[in-house]
Amino acid sequence: MTKYVFITGGVLSGLGKGLVTCSIGKMLQVRGFKVTAVKCDPYINVDAGTMNPYIHGEVFVLDDGYEADMDLGSYERFLGVNLTRLNNITSGQIYKTVIERERRGEYLGRCVQIIPHITDEIKRRVRLVAEKTDVDVLLVECGGTVGDIEGLPFLEAFRQMRLEEARGDTLLVHVTLVPVLKAVGEPKTKPTQHSVKELRAIGLQPDIIVARCEWGLLPEEQKRKIALYCNVEERAVFTSINVDPIYELPLVLEEQGMGELLCEYLGLERRKPDWSGWRGIVQRFKDAKETVRIALCGKYAEFADAYVSVNEALRHAGAANGCRVNIEFIETEEFEETPNSVEKLSDFDGILVPGGFGERGVEGKIAAIEYARTRGIPFLGICYGFQLSVVEYSRHVLGLEGAHTTECDPDTPHPVIDLLPEQRSIDELGGTMRLGSQPVVVKPGTLAHRLYGSELIYERHRHRWEVNPRYWDRLEEAGVVFSGWSLDGRRKEIMELPNHPFFLATQFHPEFKSRPWKPSPPYYGFIKAALERRLGARRP
Ligand code: GLN
Repeated sequence: MTKYVFITGGVLSGLGKGLVTCSIGKMLQVRGFKVTAVKCDPYINVDAGTMNPYIHGEVFVLDDGYEADMDLGSYERFLGVNLTRLNNITSGQIYKTVIERERRGEYLGRCVQIIPHITDEIKRRVRLVAEKTDVDVLLVECGGTVGDIEGLPFLEAFRQMRLEEARGDTLLVHVTLVPVLKAVGEPKTKPTQHSVKELRAIGLQPDIIVARCEWGLLPEEQKRKIALYCNVEERAVFTSINVDPIYELPLVLEEQGMGELLCEYLGLERRKPDWSGWRGIVQRFKDAKETVRIALCGKYAEFADAYVSVNEALRHAGAANGCRVNIEFIETEEFEETPNSVEKLSDFDGILVPGGFGERGVEGKIAAIEYARTRGIPFLGICYGFQLSVVEYSRHVLGLEGAHTTECDPDTPHPVIDLLPEQRSIDELGGTMRLGSQPVVVKPGTLAHRLYGSELIYERHRHRWEVNPRYWDRLEEAGVVFSGWSLDGRRKEIMELPNHPFFLATQFHPEFKSRPWKPSPPYYGFIKAALERRLGARRP
């Protein structure tokens, strides 16, 4: 029998509710309980695939090809589970299913309503995950903030589930903000009181409150106040503080006694937690001495959330190499406006060109790749970064003037990157790219093979374009090594340049499978090379 922990958020978004969810999962995992997590996203989009990462944050790709909300990336990185499309429930999916059912006549004679039809569909999908995964505890996080109109059907579904499941088998954790105004100098609990009031108005009483407070652990007085006004036990008020690395948060909450209380409230067997493995992982991040500087040359560069998985993969690789990774976001349009500004890349230990779409900033990315290639700066190209590396090499080494991807220039004389053949007949945007985990054959004796230590790997994809087979031979004759290809041999997946300290680019997104205890091989190799460059520069 699965038990349920519902996680809601109050006051404002961006409180780290997802990380609290991950931490709850970790506290249960180290006690030997099997857990997984579901994210409920109240937006009407069917999935995150069509959303702009600059506004909404990165699109996280699962093994099964589902394009998910970025919180699912945190779940995977903390909990080490591989999620499926069932783990993300959106209003779009719920409404689509209910409306399709209505069209088939399955509600014949009845008026189709939010309660019970929409809420029933939400509950069905939540319970389906419990059934399929057979976990001890299912974490169910609701996106957005209490009080959002969109979120109401989800919260109503949670309320019903709390009534329907056996007493004590469900728990509600509410995450809020406790601000500290400089002029006042003390943490204020009023916003928390208000957001709990809002919850109770729709029939939900939290059992546990996690207050996010940038100032530090909440003093007893504020905890007492929250407990009294929000109707929870004083020992059920916890503080989430700023931590570095983020993987330390479960330890911070455990120290406050949250793990014990979770088990007590859920009626779970009291087991001694084994934190040794996790503590070791966190310590690796803390012990890092050197710092390498990486230039992340992208388009949504001002907004860190657009590249969460890339950032985390770089940090995981840093911890494994014993160094911190300082990531600087560079908007590549700058290199187009002021071509000389590309020189600032010489200060970096590594240059990364991540995935992307469309024309804006592309010439600047190509300039960054050329700089990395000709100056011998460690380079990692991901997806679009891979494709543009091929464009750069075609233009500047093969001398194919005007070479381009047809994504940017449909009439280029040299379409070195072209649409995947199976994409030509597709005109819907949502969920139609080449997506998810695909096998890649790795060529022995190459850098890629040394990094992966295997001739067959699985990595996650998200693209519509690929290297045009008509140019394979010319590129290889000119020095490009394609060290990875699809199982059917029809598409190139990895490119590298042998006479360079580290130049590797992949059609897939290895960052999605990076874990704090198991860094992604391309990222590991990239940071290792960057660290060598840093140490080399210091040597007299
Ligand atoms: N825009 C490119 C494509 O669709 C690259 C996509 C990406 O970087 N995720 O193939």
